[in-house]
Amino acid sequence: MKPKYKRVLLKLSGESLAGNETHGIDFDTVLKICEPIKKCADMGVQIAIVVGGGNFWRGRSSGKMDRTRADHMGMLATTINALGVADALEQLGMQVRVQTAIAMQQIAEPYIRNRAVRHLEKGRVVVFGCGTGNPFFSTDTAAALRAAEIDADIIMKATMVDGVYDCDPKKNPNAVKYDSLSFMEVLNKNLQVMDSTAASLCKDNNIPILVFSINEPENIVKAVCGEPIGTIVEE
Ligand code: UDP
Repeated sequence: MKPKYKRVLLKLSGESLAGNETHGIDFDTVLKICEPIKKCADMGVQIAIVVGGGNFWRGRSSGKMDRTRADHMGMLATTINALGVADALEQLGMQVRVQTAIAMQQIAEPYIRNRAVRHLEKGRVVVFGCGTGNPFFSTDTAAALRAAEIDADIIMKATMVDGVYDCDPKKNPNAVKYDSLSFMEVLNKNLQVMDSTAASLCKDNNIPILVFSINEPENIVKAVCGEPIGTIVEE
């Protein structure tokens, strides 16, 4: 198989790292997700990763807490995941750097765009933690922002469903999956691909998003090689 893309931004949801558990990190699952990432890197693809934090904490589900503080906790959760993913990639023999949007200099590099690009050019995987560094945003928006900053060819959003549907496939057995969509359709139909801030950022900067299932980790290789999986959202 030949890669279609040179530089990709892979968005891993927090949920995908929990395996069969409802919470936390299942390290064997993380290793399984990282194996195809190594395959892609071995094919010469530059890979940056934005990790979510929903397997530990989501600010918007924090009930009575102050939202800003709850989001700070969410961003810390993404950093736990970033370190877990980095460790798995290193165990597979890869060179990895974690960069966080909020400085934590004892455990990770601060996010510096040019430095991130340099790592990618040297074949290192860069894992971005802390989302955008701001409350009221999501890691999907962080994925869109980082993809724009590092000039990624595509955002590959690895999720628990195998693409974008016209309604929730878990609730409606007749839900129909889209093979491709435009950003306008996503925004107008309010499809739950990603939140509207993230979708607008991708639209404005013309960054395509491929949504696919991570239940089959090898899909990461297929996605990088441009095989027709999941749902592609583009202009
Ligand atoms: N978060 C934030 N700012 C960001 C990105 C994330 O405050 O730029 C917080 C927010 O509380 C969010 C949590 O981190 O709920 C985890 O991120 P997200 O919900 O996007 O994770 P996912 O659903 O992808 O696992």
